[in-house]
Amino acid sequence: MNCNEAATLVAAYADGEIVGRRGDLLQKHLLGCAGCATQYQSVLALRARLRAEIPYFPASPALHTRVRAMLGATGAALPSRPRPSIDGWRWLTGGALAGCAATVLAWVLGTAVIDWRTNEDLAVDAVATHVRATLGNHLIEVASSDRHTVKPWLSARLDYSPPVQDLANEGFALTGGRVDTLERRPIATLVYRYRQHTIDVFVRPESAHAAPALRTVRGFNVAHASGSGMDWLAVSDVSADILSPFVQRLARAEAAP
Ligand SMILES: [Zn+2]
Repeated sequence: MNCNEAATLVAAYADGEIVGRRGDLLQKHLLGCAGCATQYQSVLALRARLRAEIPYFPASPALHTRVRAMLGATGAALPSRPRPSIDGWRWLTGGALAGCAATVLAWVLGTAVIDWRTNEDLAVDAVATHVRATLGNHLIEVASSDRHTVKPWLSARLDYSPPVQDLANEGFALTGGRVDTLERRPIATLVYRYRQHTIDVFVRPESAHAAPALRTVRGFNVAHASGSGMDWLAVSDVSADILSPFVQRLARAEAAP
């Protein structure tokens, strides 16, 4: 076996896919060739790094459902009657199906990673915006506990009109609102007071990707909920067991009179 052949097989060999006589030949080549051995070691090292450094998240029920649905759709696309002829054809069909499924799976996983990245950036961006507003003392651009004041003020500055509720009787007093920029787009921010804490709630029209319900960024809790056609993202130093139900309550938006 020469270096060119070895180079095409090294990655598969590292995955345990090259066995039998070819595996023996490759192993022999690696023992005698420093260049190919280095390449093999770097594949192993990369694999170890990926395992160690890429964060692991259990798949959400929504992702489970999506993968199942897509794999189901792939299965349905198969010819219902098996090809009559030689076994070889079945192998081919099986291989093609496995390839399809692998592609679908890779695509879904890729999308999940992008979703994760997007949500991570969004949470970090939201916390940075919250901190900037608090430190820079421009928490509130329209100061009012009256939703009939805050809502039109926001609608006049945005291309959507977020639902606004005062939940003072539940301990969350609306103190005002402002317009921020999140992910390079203007966004409505509702400002609430809960005991000594300030809660910023970013509200924008619902997007396609599902954000995780709760994250912690630099000690701040970021709670997400979807509802009333909007995405709701609450940021505060209030504890998660208070923030999460609050943002879900807003998303339900049972309109107050
Ligand atoms: Zn070599």
